[in-house]
Amino acid sequence: MKFAENNNQAAEYLRQAIPLMVKHNIPPNPLNYALWYTYVSDRLPELNVQLDKTLTTYGTCPTMLSEQLFREHMIKDEINGAEDIQASLISLINNLYEDAGHTAEKTANFNTVLEESLVTLQQQEDGEASLPLDSIIHALSTHTKSIGDTARLFQERMYAAQIEIQALKEELNKTRQDARVDPLTNLFNRRVFDSELAQLVSNTNHNLISSFILVDIDHFKNFNDTYGHLMGDKVLQYVGKLLKDVCPEPMLPVRYGGEEFAVLMPGVDIDSASEIAEKVREKIQAIRIKQKKSGEIISSITASFGVSQFKHGETAEQLIDRTDKALYKAKDSGRNQVKCAN
Ligand code: GH3
Ligand code: MG
Ligand code: MG
Repeated sequence: MKFAENNNQAAEYLRQAIPLMVKHNIPPNPLNYALWYTYVSDRLPELNVQLDKTLTTYGTCPTMLSEQLFREHMIKDEINGAEDIQASLISLINNLYEDAGHTAEKTANFNTVLEESLVTLQQQEDGEASLPLDSIIHALSTHTKSIGDTARLFQERMYAAQIEIQALKEELNKTRQDARVDPLTNLFNRRVFDSELAQLVSNTNHNLISSFILVDIDHFKNFNDTYGHLMGDKVLQYVGKLLKDVCPEPMLPVRYGGEEFAVLMPGVDIDSASEIAEKVREKIQAIRIKQKKSGEIISSITASFGVSQFKHGETAEQLIDRTDKALYKAKDSGRNQVKCAN
């Protein structure tokens, strides 16, 4: 569920929601606030009807019911989406399992026919009266055709299932993206960054000082080429963790793209921001990874930084552009350094 109100409208909902929550003795946690915010916005009439009913019955809304209403009305689509995908995957795998069982059964039948034929042939050799050779060959060829058809059918189903699995995987990935967290680093993703930045830009116009850091790992393509993509992924994970440690809330570190990170820093001026960037730079430079296979210690990881303070009246694009220029100055001046934007 998305909230697209402007600041004034959102503030108005806040003014209405809080007194109602106090009146009904509702704990002021984020879940309840989202619920009551939605209640006063009147955008989910079904939710309002149920909440009103609950209030009439209990005089308040018990925690369990709040959670249930939240799940049913506010994140229903997300949950259903993920559950649907999971259910499709399970049924797909069950079908394949049945197909595989069917194929195995046919193969077992074929083995039995082969064995029987062999016994019959043996008996003929031994001079015992038995089935004529023609009918043995006919039985064998019928079963061979049947097993061939089954195998082909199974192969076709496997192929169709592969395509379906791929599509479901992509859908699942999209749902994960919707969850707004980058799966490799566990940092928030670019989507969160964009909406938080828009918010901060509008707050800057109400006199809040904020800063912004862009981080780009140096010569990362070379790193991947030399040590492998998996090792590269480990470095990204480590840098993500490091940023989380060095930039606690209300600072917001995000994975900006590939080997680039960004940190939004509400209430932080450029001097403090560049000190923090310098600290991160030193910590990245100090990374030492021991390669399992060769025992070699890798000590060549560095990153470059562009730092800027939000300017009154500038747009998000202008801010990013200024910070990007500072980052490129850091790259041009030899990398592994912090540069502040003009
Ligand atoms: P520069 O110092 O100029 O930034 O050089 P660079 O090699 O870091 O820059 P470039 O943009 O040429 O290459 C970025 C590399 O980052 C290429 C790509 O393989 C790597 N990369 C991007 N995303 C990932 C990822 O998720 N995992 C790994 N292992 N590598 C990634
Ligand atoms: Mg880059
Ligand atoms: Mg780079």
